[in-house]
Amino acid sequence: MSSELQRVTVAHGDGIGPEIMEATLRILRAAKARLVYDEVEIGEKAYLEGHSTGIRPESWDIIRRNELFLKAPITTPLGGGYKSLNVTLRKSLRLYANVRPCRAYYPYVPTNFPHIDMVIVRENEEDLYAGIEYQQTDEVTQALKLVSRPGCEAICKYALEYARAYGRKKVTCLTKSNIMKVSDGLFQRVFEEVAAEKRYAGIDTEHRIIDIGAALVAARPEDLDVVVTLNLYGDIVSDIAALVAGSVGLAGSANIGFNAAMFEAVHGSAPDIAGKDIANPSGLLQAAVMMLVHAGQGDVALTIRNAWLRTLEEGLHTADLYREMVSRERLGTRAFADAVIERLGDMPRNFRAASFANHKIQVELTPHPRKKKELIGVDVFLDWDGDGRDPAKLGPALEDVVAKAGEFSLKMISNRGMLVYPGGLKETFCTDHWRCRFYAAGGGGVTPQQIVSLLAAITDAGYAFIKTENLYTFDGERGYSLGQGE
Ligand code: NAD
Repeated sequence: MSSELQRVTVAHGDGIGPEIMEATLRILRAAKARLVYDEVEIGEKAYLEGHSTGIRPESWDIIRRNELFLKAPITTPLGGGYKSLNVTLRKSLRLYANVRPCRAYYPYVPTNFPHIDMVIVRENEEDLYAGIEYQQTDEVTQALKLVSRPGCEAICKYALEYARAYGRKKVTCLTKSNIMKVSDGLFQRVFEEVAAEKRYAGIDTEHRIIDIGAALVAARPEDLDVVVTLNLYGDIVSDIAALVAGSVGLAGSANIGFNAAMFEAVHGSAPDIAGKDIANPSGLLQAAVMMLVHAGQGDVALTIRNAWLRTLEEGLHTADLYREMVSRERLGTRAFADAVIERLGDMPRNFRAASFANHKIQVELTPHPRKKKELIGVDVFLDWDGDGRDPAKLGPALEDVVAKAGEFSLKMISNRGMLVYPGGLKETFCTDHWRCRFYAAGGGGVTPQQIVSLLAAITDAGYAFIKTENLYTFDGERGYSLGQGE
């Protein structure tokens, strides 16, 4: 437990942000959270002043100095040219883990699954969110999906450490490794490697393919405990989970990094109800509770969480939750905060009392020796619209091109991943985007200079190459996927 005062950056945000932040800070102060608050202004105003990330330069210094950041929702102005503030913060501060608890609060919040209590741990920096995209031919676009070993290791370790710290029983890893054997395969492999460590012996671990995993989140969410997954799947699955739990308005989320961590409500700035003292501050309050646990102030977190549960149980609800059958009183934002403050020290009677870890979850990456990397071939991608797009014409023509130099042989051509030469089916639809795989003619390695000569020969023969991907082995293991049907 940390008894020191910790500095936290506080951003009041836009819309309902200032009201729910004020309510949250009052509860934190009343609960004697050991925090010192440094306020920054981010969001709409900063965007409109011309700061394209929504953050003023002087705010950056404070955000970078403090390890904790409590952020109210902000409004992204309409129109182009504005960068996502959240993406900027995640990437700049290396906030690699997004943690979203999804709980049911039945009967106060309606749901078909009264016992949902799952936590989605989503990788936050990699995957398709690198935003590296290209239009390569008239017909074909490409997005790069980047998955790194340190990225996988950090998130998988965080999920398992989280399970240990919170006494969770099971961690489910979701990937599409049956299709993306290299990228998602790496995520699954690293998960299994980490899960096999002795310190996680008490935790059940399993891997499931994301499609069935997402179906489980929707149909049997009560069977899931901690879920760890890649960025895009996590984005989708956490919204499904929030919907089935019915409690998106009450949910907080944490973005955890190696040094800094940012905490916020899941909902947005709700401009439609701003300034009316009717917004529910619970989402931001739950985020603040997560922040306290992260900061080693689990004792304060517990007091606040239990008082909040008690308030909910007593039927003291803000307008978004108020229902004649289960609510006793409809409270405004301020009055709701007062009700929580009055109950600090009380325990819930219907809900299970909260229990939290009282230490910061630390993740350390294990150094890995670099593998021996050998260049053994190249995929050359062509933009080709000739000869009725007949692969049976393109294949022999390229074989002629490489035969002259004698250094490479054409192994195959695929179109949108499907093998079309040699062999292939007439029925396969071919776009103008062709992947031509070349290996060294006699087997073994190739040099970058040979690849440059190959590209020159292909260009001289009148073909337009778009890009190349080198084919490597790592410690003798193939580091690329085979074409479907290869
Ligand atoms: P929203 O979550 O702000 O609102 C959706 C609906 O939920 C609205 O009817 C709103 O009144 C209600 N609602 C939301 N929070 C509530 C609360 N605490 N209490 C009671 N009712 C609440 O989503 P939106 O309308 O799509 O987005 C509004 C703005 O918020 C946009 O500018 C969007 O870019 C921004 N946004 C910001 C964040 C963030 O800062 N992390 C996240 C999502 C959306």
